[in-house]
Amino acid sequence: MNAPDPATVPAEGPSVSLTGRDEARVRLAPATLAVTAGRPEAVAGAPLNTPVVLSSTYVAAPPGAPPGPVYGRWTNDTWTAFETALGALEGGNALVMSSGMAAISAALTLVPLGGRLVLPRHPYSGTTVIAESLAAEGRLTVEPVDIADTDAVVATLDGADLLWVESPTNPMLEVADLGALARAAHERDVPVVADNTFCTPLVMRPLDHGADLVVHSVTKYLAGHSDVVLGAVVTRRPDLLSRLAAHRTTHGAIAGPVETYLALRGLRTLALRVDRAGSNAAVLARRLAGHPAVTGVRHPSLPDDPGHARALAQMRGFGAIVSVEVRGGADAAERVSAGVRLWVHATSLGGVESTLERRRRYPTEALTVPESLLRLSVGIEDVEDLWADLEQALDAL
Ligand SMILES: *Cc1c(COP(=O)(O)O)cnc(C)c1O
Repeated sequence: MNAPDPATVPAEGPSVSLTGRDEARVRLAPATLAVTAGRPEAVAGAPLNTPVVLSSTYVAAPPGAPPGPVYGRWTNDTWTAFETALGALEGGNALVMSSGMAAISAALTLVPLGGRLVLPRHPYSGTTVIAESLAAEGRLTVEPVDIADTDAVVATLDGADLLWVESPTNPMLEVADLGALARAAHERDVPVVADNTFCTPLVMRPLDHGADLVVHSVTKYLAGHSDVVLGAVVTRRPDLLSRLAAHRTTHGAIAGPVETYLALRGLRTLALRVDRAGSNAAVLARRLAGHPAVTGVRHPSLPDDPGHARALAQMRGFGAIVSVEVRGGADAAERVSAGVRLWVHATSLGGVESTLERRRRYPTEALTVPESLLRLSVGIEDVEDLWADLEQALDAL
């Protein structure tokens, strides 16, 4: 008999299920879950951490025995450890993917051929790029919306096939009313996907607000050390879980076990990092708003920020991304990027180190993002050192 081709064998439903022990953990506080979820049973002499399992293939089970793992594109114990931890934090079942973009493209398969996707006008730029390329191929149509304008979004939902939410958005930091949007979408049978990269489950749990699916760039805060590229999806819906697990298996955008191990290692300190980066960001946002070279600051912690009240209502904290506009346009923003010494002039976000960049240096960035806008990813360094460095770069303008 021929062995089944791994490419054609469907994933056997959910690859993650909470064991009794993990269900007890769901009642623990998030900071505790980040440390404890996804560990092997505590057995004398056994390792505390799930090891990196490097195997493409597994020895077959004898007739009548439970099948166990078969092939490395279908399942991996290091994935399962990470997925259990992230699933416990988000309150759903997680699937790790090879990158945030792999998670986003998997989620976009929920739009049927010819369907209509409602998309924030300022989502992560890669999300716009992939949605527009799918639109150019005639696979779907895209409806760009101001995700902070609940009425305007709701007005587009009749006949839509998927509502995409990012909150706060990247890099404009618009805050969506996720609960209101999810209720309106569900009244019309429109599923809701939330990109929760900026918040992490410690700041907001979109599934609790009605989202059907969460996507993550694990590359950012979850892994947290700027050393891996990885993604994930999380859901409570068994139909979506098995569909996306099958997608991962057959399309093959699987995570490397070493990257997954590093991400889980990073996740263990998520609560400390998110707290520290978030409080640093709030201090810096306030000080930046008072600097004469700064013409605008966006951070939901600021009492006069348009997203402040919503953030208070649906988030625990305000996240650690701050956007600033500087006097003097693109050139001035580039000079600040070049003038910092402690901050790293680099793309990406969510690492322990503070980074900044002018977003419009990319041709793919939305044209409604101001030329002089710098996106700051605030890290966990001492806040006075961070401020002193920013201040000298701004003073030099
Ligand atoms: C970086 C990012 C992504 C893409 O993730 P990758 O891991 O780079 O593929 C998606 N969404 C948001 C909000 C991001 O910041």
